[in-house]
Amino acid sequence: MDVRAQIAAVFHLDKCIGCHTCSIACKNIWTDRKGLEYAWWNNVETKPGTGYPTLWEDQEKYKGGWELKGNELKLRLGGKLSRLLNIFYNPYLPTIDDYYEPWTYRYEDLFNSPESDVQPTARPVSMITGEPVEIESGPNWDDDLSGTPVYARNDLNLKSLSEEERRKLFEFERVVFFYVPRICNHCLNPGCVAACPAGAIYKRAEDGIVLISQEKCRAWRMCISGCPYKKVYFNWNTGKSEKCILCYPRIETGQAPACFHSCVGRIRYLGVVLYDADKLPEAAKKPDEELVDAQRDVILDPFDEEVVKAAKANGVHDSVIEYARKSPVYKFVKEWKIAFPLHPEFRTMPMVFYVPPLLPVMAFRTGEIYELAKDFFSTPESVRIPIKYLASLFTAGNEEHMIYALRKILALRLYKRMQKAKDVPKEEVDMMMKEVGLTPETAEEMYRLMSLPTFHDRFVIPPSHREMSVEQTENVYNRKASGGFGFRKPPERGM
Ligand code: SF4
Ligand code: SF4
Repeated sequence: MDVRAQIAAVFHLDKCIGCHTCSIACKNIWTDRKGLEYAWWNNVETKPGTGYPTLWEDQEKYKGGWELKGNELKLRLGGKLSRLLNIFYNPYLPTIDDYYEPWTYRYEDLFNSPESDVQPTARPVSMITGEPVEIESGPNWDDDLSGTPVYARNDLNLKSLSEEERRKLFEFERVVFFYVPRICNHCLNPGCVAACPAGAIYKRAEDGIVLISQEKCRAWRMCISGCPYKKVYFNWNTGKSEKCILCYPRIETGQAPACFHSCVGRIRYLGVVLYDADKLPEAAKKPDEELVDAQRDVILDPFDEEVVKAAKANGVHDSVIEYARKSPVYKFVKEWKIAFPLHPEFRTMPMVFYVPPLLPVMAFRTGEIYELAKDFFSTPESVRIPIKYLASLFTAGNEEHMIYALRKILALRLYKRMQKAKDVPKEEVDMMMKEVGLTPETAEEMYRLMSLPTFHDRFVIPPSHREMSVEQTENVYNRKASGGFGFRKPPERGM
């Protein structure tokens, strides 16, 4: 057992209101600079939709992440040799049109225009060329319903639906959407790290945060292709790649990353988990439908004495183990089994998990929640967002996992409704809770964390132990790297 610590997150999608405060908080701190005008380390996209950069989920186009070839895990981008041979030619990159041409407005025209009968206007100008532009797309262009006919219909996850299911989904009265905020997933098997020919990307030994050395980056941009989530961005001004750093300077001082801290819907949770790196190679090779279980299995029980012993032997600090025991992420992912990674079939083992949205599933007609719940428990196929669609996004097509999670969340709602509004029959609620193994104690705990969490419930950030990072780095990097699991050593400064 090779126990390591990883900072991980949960986003509860039912609570996201699509306000983009998270994106702006991040932009203001990290990417409000020349060369990164188009880059949003945190973005929020509307689903169904094509996202940012457009169609990022299409790995036929972008060749991101890993694929299973026989029993071997290979980067879709190609092996080391083919990447080196193509080092000056990489066609699998999003263009500025796939992101959007960033623009600002000529605000000074509002003040400096000569006197006239008509109001002056601030025309949009490109932040790249300074020339006037027609705005044709943006990072949240398919927001809400505005882009539905054009964007939602092109969502790749709709492929799993039949013609009839797709037709129904876009019926005017049923039309449905929800938001998916996205940051770098600080994956356990990151495609970006494996794709970089310069060895500039590495995972921090003490907390698993994935970083790019600005000194070692040689602008080959293989990381941008290698990341299936398109969460590495090229800074055209410095000629280096950059990505979300999970606000590590904030984490090191016990503060949540800016996008977490500022989240208006309080949808974000952060905590540390312990995982077994020895299990990674096999877990990442499981068939699609087993990937969620395999990823859960890699995460270890921090109360298990064997795990604690192995963690200590690997240099994991006692306080990190203590915080792993209080981690909200552990509860959502391992104990309650209601949070899933985004597109686990990309096989990078992402460490941001999503609680799927229940409300758009249920709310296609008005009526008693209890009646709706009964429908859902008996015929989940009839729901407003097809389960197949959510399974395509979060469980690599495993519908059972998705139905279980949604039923559990629904049983919890009915349980609280029974307590507060007293208009739901107790025997029925008991039956539904029993079906998903939900006890009143767990229901209360889930309710507290999902509905009334304090800052300290949501963000359980272990104290930073930079003084121990050297020791852990030795433990982690002296192992023989296998397959894609090369946890590169952080570069020496000045290289
Ligand atoms: S999402 Fe994963 S593969 Fe993409 S940049 Fe982040 S760590 Fe790398
Ligand atoms: S700040 Fe929170 S609620 Fe608002 S869009 Fe971002 S994740 Fe959603």
